[in-house]
Amino acid sequence: MIEFDQTPDVHFFLCCECRTHIALNQELLFTVIENDFGIFRNTVNVDVEDDPRRHSIVGIRTAADASCTRCSQLLGFKLIVIPDENMVIQAGRFILDLTRLLLWNGSRILYAHDHSPVED
Ligand SMILES: [Zn+2]
Repeated sequence: MIEFDQTPDVHFFLCCECRTHIALNQELLFTVIENDFGIFRNTVNVDVEDDPRRHSIVGIRTAADASCTRCSQLLGFKLIVIPDENMVIQAGRFILDLTRLLLWNGSRILYAHDHSPVED
């Protein structure tokens, strides 16, 4: 397991179920507010479905399920084949459901999708 430093200078996302560290805030490229998805350049502690038969295919785009390594919660998916790449949507990037993530903002842990505080 990779763990980030939980300090004021390091902001990162965690699995909402088991609080495994998932991605640095700087890896978040774009947020789709309407449906609470974030597009990430890279993640850690995430298992990607590697059986091509289980990849989901939308038109000519292919994606694989991406889950938390520790608790197996489905977090989103990894883009595998993206013929119409742009600045944000590219093969190898992750689209994660922000309602399944928490955010360490340097001083406390928040829900990633609405930034409301998590009560410990
Ligand atoms: Zn987890």
